[in-house]
Amino acid sequence: MTTPDMSWGAHAPGMAPMPGWQVPGLQAPGVQAPGMTPPSVPRQPTAGSAATRSGAFTPEAARQDIPVLQRPVNGRPVVWLDNGATTQKPRQVIETLAAYYATANSNIHRGAHTLAREATEMYEGGRAAVAGFLGAPSPDTIVFTRGTTEAVNLVAQSWGRANLGPGDEILVSTLEHHSNIVPWQMIAKERRARVVPIPLLPDGSIDQDAYADLLSFRTQLVAISHASNVLGTVPPVKEMTALAHRYNAKVLVDGAQAVAHFPVDVQDLDSDFYVFSGHKLYAPTGIGAMYGKPEVLAAMPPWQGGGNMIDQVEFGRVTYAPVPHCFEAGTGHISGVVGLKAAIDWLTSFGREAVAAYETALLGHAQQALAAVPGLTVLGSAAEKIAVLTFTLAGQDPMTVARRLDQDGIAVRAGHHCAQPSLRHYGLEAATRASLALYNTAEEVDQLAAALTQMQAQAAV
Ligand code: PMP
Repeated sequence: MTTPDMSWGAHAPGMAPMPGWQVPGLQAPGVQAPGMTPPSVPRQPTAGSAATRSGAFTPEAARQDIPVLQRPVNGRPVVWLDNGATTQKPRQVIETLAAYYATANSNIHRGAHTLAREATEMYEGGRAAVAGFLGAPSPDTIVFTRGTTEAVNLVAQSWGRANLGPGDEILVSTLEHHSNIVPWQMIAKERRARVVPIPLLPDGSIDQDAYADLLSFRTQLVAISHASNVLGTVPPVKEMTALAHRYNAKVLVDGAQAVAHFPVDVQDLDSDFYVFSGHKLYAPTGIGAMYGKPEVLAAMPPWQGGGNMIDQVEFGRVTYAPVPHCFEAGTGHISGVVGLKAAIDWLTSFGREAVAAYETALLGHAQQALAAVPGLTVLGSAAEKIAVLTFTLAGQDPMTVARRLDQDGIAVRAGHHCAQPSLRHYGLEAATRASLALYNTAEEVDQLAAALTQMQAQAAV
């Protein structure tokens, strides 16, 4: 019998080859990922590097890679403006997942066999890719989680339980997602610490004077978003972190809405923790990551027990695996990590600065287009903001607005967006949100504005 060709460009034996079965995100088995042994951090491709596409970024180039954007919804091409909830996936990610399961599937770390070794290399290659993506000093500073929510809970349950005590304070900005509020409330209650909200200004930015006043030596941790999922606000995280560090407080940055939209460098920010979800970054659901400073991670106890996170287990005693493995109990989301690396490769191939510049221009266009819709008010006008437009339409219920847009194939979200304090800052319980990504176009934004204008015209008759 001849050995089946299991190279990454090939289809699995017995499987029909998939169209365009090229899997740029995967390493060929046996071929060492750059800098994998010993692990090191591959730098992100920069403009002009081999991994960067030639020419200026265009949304059309990105759209060509996203199969779901080809499907109609209610007879019209789908207009996906719900990127804040989740992003659509490029075929490079979809095909990488299929190829992983077709040719490489194995559990990791435990096996002495070929597939286990290859899967382990891919998993650890994914860790190195995330480290490079975030500007982290080493892959060992990256812990895989299910996403942002699980990462915040990890920090709250591990670091929080070990470090918080009665009277301690956790400062949490008012624009946080519930996943960066509730885990702090839970651990604060247990440790008899206090969660203290940092107020917002009318434009949706964080009140920096109030923040400076709230900081004290009681402050143990500051939890801030790198970009708000409702208001789009991008707070001055670096400056806020420097201020917190003067009080020896740790800073956790929620990058869920940031990482897909602008470059992040955790060492430049001096973050103690930086967390994000893969699915908002063109990667699969169920995978995300937490960066932690090496010295902070080294002092943290494990939070979940089980396989993979131990060194020795006896009934009288247990010792743990080194960081980051001691924080990853059980079988990880191996294919998710492989898909996350493919998504990072895909996004960075466009050049991060070029994507950020395009999205900023698209935000400007959207702000103008929506300003012309009668009765429309956009929430949040901070000077630094991502392309998130949460709005109310006079006389219209937010959910009805979303359903009417869906009739035209336009997907937006309505409700409280898991950030009730942000909305209540404006006296609201619900609003409609359009959140843009690199594959959205000015034409799509114009379609949204036209549909809303028509809705208002119909309501007036
Ligand atoms: N933080 C922010 C700012 C978010 O937008 C979200 C998702 N909407 C989360 C945290 C939670 O992310 P996940 O559900 O992927 O854990």
